[in-house]
Amino acid sequence: MKPVIGVTPDFTAGDRKELGSHEPTIFLRARYSQAIEDLGGIPLILPLCEDSSVRRQLLKKVDGLLLTGSGPDIPPRLYGERQRYRFRVMNRRRYDFELEMVRLAARSGVPLLGICGGMQAINVAHGGTLVQDIASELDRPLQHRAPGPATRRSHSVCVTPKSLLYRIVGRKQIRVNSSHHQSVKRVAPSLTVSAVASDGVIEAIEAPARRFLLGVQWHPEFLYDRDQNHRHLFKAFLDAARKR
Ligand code: MN
Repeated sequence: MKPVIGVTPDFTAGDRKELGSHEPTIFLRARYSQAIEDLGGIPLILPLCEDSSVRRQLLKKVDGLLLTGSGPDIPPRLYGERQRYRFRVMNRRRYDFELEMVRLAARSGVPLLGICGGMQAINVAHGGTLVQDIASELDRPLQHRAPGPATRRSHSVCVTPKSLLYRIVGRKQIRVNSSHHQSVKRVAPSLTVSAVASDGVIEAIEAPARRFLLGVQWHPEFLYDRDQNHRHLFKAFLDAARKR
């Protein structure tokens, strides 16, 4: 049996002209669901339902949960800070759904993979904070919003020995793509760092007490077809979901 993976989509209230609609719209970059499909899972794009009991029921329908990236950022007040720079914030409909789904999935042991903004959502849902803007807050950071195609592995990360991520990739260092301007600042108490870039930016987090709860700051959905490290990442997630 193939595992069913719930995938969180993005949401716009109808103010994103590039989507060609002024209606509230749920949308998702197809690479996320394509990666699940190509590597042996069944992607199920989750409507951003607002009722808590409906969310609980939705979670029972899936074997794993994939939190995807987002253009807009999590409102800083959700981790106790004021917004210090100009950036677009996520629609409430999305972050409210994602943050609760993270808590429900963690509590019930549903394997969880967060990509980019999805990793940040995992940290905030568990009580951690974010760097609001890497270029403004860090001394001499790497270029994390790297130019060029999203398949370009623009910097390396050091993988924490003995971590879940290390067990997956089997390497102390891997090359990753990078398309983010925020990152995890204070790691939530129940989470640990699984990878860090040379400038100190946290690039992956996990929950040691859970069988599979992993967040990565890069985009493996652009790399799984050309780099086995990133293919193994999805495979390990799908294996954990299948075993559940
Ligand atoms: Mn990066």
